[in-house]
Amino acid sequence: MQPMRRAAGGRTDVRPLRPFCTGVFSLRHRILGVPVDAVTLTQAVETVAGWVRGGGTHYIVTPNPEIILMRDRPGVLAALDGADLALADGIGVVWAARRLGTPVPERVAGADLTEAILALGEREHFRFYFLGGQPGVAAEAARRAQAAHPGIVIAGSHHGYFSAADEAELANEIRAANPDILLVGLGAPKQELWLHRWAGATGARVALGVGGVLDVLAGRKLRPPVWLRRIGLEWLYYLIRQPSRWRRQLALPRFVFAVLAARRARRQSGRGQT
Ligand code: UDP
Repeated sequence: MQPMRRAAGGRTDVRPLRPFCTGVFSLRHRILGVPVDAVTLTQAVETVAGWVRGGGTHYIVTPNPEIILMRDRPGVLAALDGADLALADGIGVVWAARRLGTPVPERVAGADLTEAILALGEREHFRFYFLGGQPGVAAEAARRAQAAHPGIVIAGSHHGYFSAADEAELANEIRAANPDILLVGLGAPKQELWLHRWAGATGARVALGVGGVLDVLAGRKLRPPVWLRRIGLEWLYYLIRQPSRWRRQLALPRFVFAVLAARRARRQSGRGQT
């Protein structure tokens, strides 16, 4: 696919949301080199529905500023690039996309997509596998998800503290459970690297990196109230509830500086060419 146009901070490709949504195209932007697809939550859910009907394995990542800043770690960019869908998770990514001249229609948080897929799965009786979190979290998340969405089928669950030596066996176990949807909450970038390496081996129709969402589904963690999410202050909520995360929160100002620097560099190189 040819790049559509050059934009500050990277390039934009037009690509079909292959292969089951014929005629539906998305723009794949690059924010500091990391892919971010310009789709809405509704389009993402429709795409997932098509992939479940169609077979094969597709995986989805939800880059936020923290993940984008991890792009230079071994394997991380390849793992993000390999995703069939990369969603703008976080108001910071939506802001960056606009600043870099490659806007996305809205924020698509992994937690919102998970809820929407559970609602869809309830109608379509999808089989769900829950992978990640401390022992007991995935099983509890599965139990509560089924109580809230009785139409879904629980294909299985597994905690997220397994060794590299156990990965092949775990993938086989998931394959045997035959899930339509595999929710993977191993934290970043572990879940992205795992998805890149193992999603295909699990045979799941759609695998989705969800971070701490399994903790939320299991009732161990609360999501910030909607009004705080709407005004983009989710990070403040997490900082107050979990002050030990302050080091992680530094990713946000670092991300802002990196985006502004990329924008400036792009403008300067644009001036140099004219
Ligand atoms: N986790 C895991 N295996 C690991 C490391 C982390 O299953 O080796 C889980 C952890 O228990 C938690 C999730 O990954 O449920 C990451 O949570 P975090 O709050 O960091 O997620 P985010 O802020 O990215 O949503």
